[in-house]
Amino acid sequence: MQVLILSDIHANLEALEACLACAPAYDVVWNLGDIVGYGANPNEVVARVQPLGDFYVRGNHDRACSGTLDISNFNSQAARSVRWTEKHLKTENIEWLRQLPKGPLSPENGVSCVHGSPHDEDEYVVHPGQALEALARAAAPITFFGHTHIQGGFFLADSDFSTLLPDYESNSELETVDLALKEEGQYLINPGSIGQPRDGDWRAAFATFDTVERRVTYYRAPYDLKAAQKKILDAGLPERLALRLQQGK
Ligand code: ZN
Repeated sequence: MQVLILSDIHANLEALEACLACAPAYDVVWNLGDIVGYGANPNEVVARVQPLGDFYVRGNHDRACSGTLDISNFNSQAARSVRWTEKHLKTENIEWLRQLPKGPLSPENGVSCVHGSPHDEDEYVVHPGQALEALARAAAPITFFGHTHIQGGFFLADSDFSTLLPDYESNSELETVDLALKEEGQYLINPGSIGQPRDGDWRAAFATFDTVERRVTYYRAPYDLKAAQKKILDAGLPERLALRLQQGK
């Protein structure tokens, strides 16, 4: 089975369209949440992802923008974008976001999907210590996660622990990096963020997973950055949300 794994789209329609345009043929989509928040096209992005499948785990921004998460600990730009998104989302889209399920969820034997970490949907798994804790609590040998907006992940077999970081050659072209999964050991795999990457690469990030060949392919797709930025500025959203897209931070 060929799986398309999408995460942290964050209402960036241009980035989502670029990813879907270059994604290979797939059987199912696993969506790891944060469909909305930050970007200027929440309704359009919801409408675009809905027909792609029915496997989702909810993200913190999906909850915040549909009024089911207290945003008092969000930074001011995130909070402003939540309020803007809540105001502009159609009622039926708010209802749809509200019913998205909490992770971890298992779409397939031996695989688990979460937004943050296996034990806390809002936790960021960035550092090795956090990854080891997450691996210790993981329900399956392979866990796909999002939330950090950093493409890559972690691998643990016995005492062999490593950080997975796809090594790209350019910063402007469409590129892919393959990861052949070993039979032994545990993986935490982050497809990266489509709509607001924070790993220093502005290109939209996603991944595919071939369940038979046990191969993950990381993608970086250039997209119409200027159009997405202009929409953010025209909408009156914080300028920083537009600027950070070109920095990938
Ligand atoms: Zn996110």
